[in-house]
Amino acid sequence: MEGNGFGFATRCVYGNKERPAADITGAISFPIYQSATFEHPEVGRSTGFDYSRLQNPTRAQVEKVVAALEGGIDALAFSSGMAAITALMEIFKPGDHIIADADLYGGSIRLFRNVCAKNGITFSHVNCSKENLEAFVKENTKAIFIETPTNPMMNVTDIRKAAEVAKRHDLLLIVDNTFLSPYFQKPLELGADIVVHSGTKFLGGHNDTLAGFIVTKSQEISDKMRFLIKTVGSGLAPFDSWLILRGIKTLPLRMEKAQANAMAIANWLLQRPEVKKVYYPGLPGTQAHEVCKAQATGFGSMLTFEVESKDLALHVLKNTKLIPFAESLGGVETLLTYPVTQTHADVPEEVRLVNGITERVLRLSAGIEDEKDLIGDLEQAFNGFAR
Ligand SMILES: *Cc1c(COP(=O)(O)O)cnc(C)c1O
Repeated sequence: MEGNGFGFATRCVYGNKERPAADITGAISFPIYQSATFEHPEVGRSTGFDYSRLQNPTRAQVEKVVAALEGGIDALAFSSGMAAITALMEIFKPGDHIIADADLYGGSIRLFRNVCAKNGITFSHVNCSKENLEAFVKENTKAIFIETPTNPMMNVTDIRKAAEVAKRHDLLLIVDNTFLSPYFQKPLELGADIVVHSGTKFLGGHNDTLAGFIVTKSQEISDKMRFLIKTVGSGLAPFDSWLILRGIKTLPLRMEKAQANAMAIANWLLQRPEVKKVYYPGLPGTQAHEVCKAQATGFGSMLTFEVESKDLALHVLKNTKLIPFAESLGGVETLLTYPVTQTHADVPEEVRLVNGITERVLRLSAGIEDEKDLIGDLEQAFNGFAR
């Protein structure tokens, strides 16, 4: 569904329609319909809204906007990214097999290993940025699940190539597009079937609410997901839907500023002798950079770096004065995360080490503050460490 010729920034504000079908008051900000249920005009007739577990006008509006941004025919808003992925996994059945990236958000790996496995779904965890996916397809394979760039190691998978393998074997290609957001990357246009989001991150953008999205370009998958959201009851609440709607209005501005900050920080880190490696696709000379350039219009604002010792990593986490040490990403505040004890603590150690997530690795989500303040803060934290 194209946005009536509207550009991306206009769609962030309105979705596809010229103006949202709001109430009769002319409110510019879409109303929060804080209602659990809706009156029926008569038996057999509905306003289109019956009960908020099934659908709610504020949720419908944020779904419309997200579908418009990703180029899908439908989007569904869930109470968190994990609620979205959990509901999505219900379209598979016992005996099904999924090829999943080896380096994924820790919560997705926990879900696959502990919940989906119990339901009889098996997974092959593969470095999708490196391996030929064709070699992992089995008779019962039903889907490929990737993040690109991955959390936290910033590996970049060629979405078009993965889509070719998926087409050839009749698999669904599912892309978690949280890290770049549709502002920089539109997986459905590159051949993916389903896009997943933690709306908590860039879409919301203010570290103030959780949300998740499933976006599809297939009516069949949309119908299945609509059935699931009404049945499992994990749809996004009206107020949280409104917060995401408000966040999305400034998505393009935030993405640009955060990316500029990430680029400056990545270049600063490269000059520090105590920094051993910087994983940021915006830095030229890597496969991640080349692939990202070919399929996205930007490199985002997430970066991971390895310092020379665990002590230095812990020192930096303890001694930044401006940048909080906290999980999450994609908000206006720059955050530093320690994947080994936070986001990826439940990933088995042997898997973590193969992926490169050591005790010397830090993840940084650049926010929209002044670049000099961020670099100044990192500089004083690094300089205070006796090497
Ligand atoms: C945070 C995150 C999730 C999970 O989303 P929640 O909103 O925290 O439930 C999934 N995928 C990625 C890439 C994430 O960063």
